[in-house]
Amino acid sequence: MRTFLTIAALGLLAACHDPATQKTPAQGKVTVFTGGTIYTGLADQPKVNAVIVGEDGRIIATAPPTSEDWSEDEVTMVDLDGGVMFPGFTDAHAHLLGIGQREIMLSLEGTPSLESLVSRVSDEVAGKVPGEIIFGRGWIETDWPEDRMPSAADLDPVSPANPVILMRADGHALVANTAALKAADVYDIAGDSDGGRVERGKGTGKATGMVIDEAMYPVLQLVAEPSDTDIRKAYEIGAKTYVARGWTGTHNMSVDRNHAALLKALDDEGLMPLRLYNAYDENGFYLAKKHQYETDTIQNRAVKIYIDGALGSRGALLIQPYSDRPDTNGLEILDENVLHNLMMDAKEDEIQLAIHAIGDLANRRILDTYEELGYGPELRWRIEHAQILAPEDIARVGQLGLIASMQPSHAIGDLKFAPARLGMDRLGGAYAWKSMLGSGAVVAGGSDAPVEVGSPLIEFYAAVARKGLNGETGEGWHPEQALAREQALALFTSSAAYAAFQEDDLGTIEPGKLADFTVFDRDLMTIPEDEILEAKAVMTIVGGNVVWRQSAASE
Ligand SMILES: [Zn+2]
Repeated sequence: MRTFLTIAALGLLAACHDPATQKTPAQGKVTVFTGGTIYTGLADQPKVNAVIVGEDGRIIATAPPTSEDWSEDEVTMVDLDGGVMFPGFTDAHAHLLGIGQREIMLSLEGTPSLESLVSRVSDEVAGKVPGEIIFGRGWIETDWPEDRMPSAADLDPVSPANPVILMRADGHALVANTAALKAADVYDIAGDSDGGRVERGKGTGKATGMVIDEAMYPVLQLVAEPSDTDIRKAYEIGAKTYVARGWTGTHNMSVDRNHAALLKALDDEGLMPLRLYNAYDENGFYLAKKHQYETDTIQNRAVKIYIDGALGSRGALLIQPYSDRPDTNGLEILDENVLHNLMMDAKEDEIQLAIHAIGDLANRRILDTYEELGYGPELRWRIEHAQILAPEDIARVGQLGLIASMQPSHAIGDLKFAPARLGMDRLGGAYAWKSMLGSGAVVAGGSDAPVEVGSPLIEFYAAVARKGLNGETGEGWHPEQALAREQALALFTSSAAYAAFQEDDLGTIEPGKLADFTVFDRDLMTIPEDEILEAKAVMTIVGGNVVWRQSAASE
């Protein structure tokens, strides 16, 4: 207690808020973060010089900008070394298991051409015995000089004896070679499953390699079920990767209920540095209802369901047909009646629903059903992606109090092909963050990694620049939807906290809240737009503990 009194005597508690709302200061060790610019995320006091954190991992006080330098040797000082500290960045939509698995498996991210994709597979085959499966993910054909999707015919010459399965970056399509298509029993039409699509040769009827959405299931079954050890390792590596990028928390989507105990065990063993807010698969209804397997840093109260697929593979459910494929308007993964019933069950069980909806028809169905059931903002249900909406539906999101959980990087990737899929007219309601905020909706920001890289800097840049990573833009990109820096910051801090019922604990730097902070090497609020991508995370703090710092990692 003496330490605390010493600090108080220094007058650094002058910034204390109303004593009535002040929580009792923690006893014991006190940590002071200072020596850099500190953004609180609060309008009335946007910057402070120091943040004082108690042993319980909560903020005791923030020092005003006029305070003296620290010279107190009884406290643990954490020198920000000129860095810029923000409330902890939370990725409001990511798949932690996939993020870890991506670090472990064949990563095809950034593959510049079909030719190089084939040569990567050829290299892999060299290290395998015949029959061993090659599984990779992350390729995307949009910038390839060949300007087409890959096919089994591309892969067969380099891998005649090893099944090859390569997921597209969006996770909604894959290419397989003939060995894999035959092993999965989808090569001949007789083996086709419902939902999704196996692309077939005209005349032959044989699968040609591309497999879309639900039709991927039998092919993915070939990939050996990972063992618990593999899964544990993937989660652990995913979390390490994430804190090193500056994320303090993740809304972890589509979690298998069987992984809940494993995540808790990792946290109990001190191996889960990241704060997790899990949204389970539909099989996790009971678990989320009962809040099973929670810890101080892991919460289980949400369930994720899917209404449609993704835009790139034409699985997004649209009101009107695709502009570049007039014979289809996408895939319906969940029909209206099932949605209606799931919503009733979720309300009854006090579960937060996180509903994947990309196309304008998918989004409209959520709005219609929600309205029909008379539900309101207190449920805080989320539309995951909310990517394409009819302009008249955008206002309804705010009115009904649904949360739009959006991914800025999706826009700057998708806008390269979205004009072809949707035509210019529909782009006005696509990736429309600013209009969504204008409707009064809370917009939480995420990355959807491993579909995207999963970098707070890329997401922040995409939100404020709305340009490609090289500064490119084009017709139909709607630059007026770019956000102000403060709005972008809120997406990953205060709004992410609200979207997880955590606004009393997270989202801003103020007394009583948990000490989750992200420190970058430069000031994202003031540097020129094109410098944002050059910034680096230098320190990540969760619950007052420095869980990652650059110097330690690079030594
Ligand atoms: Zn996702």
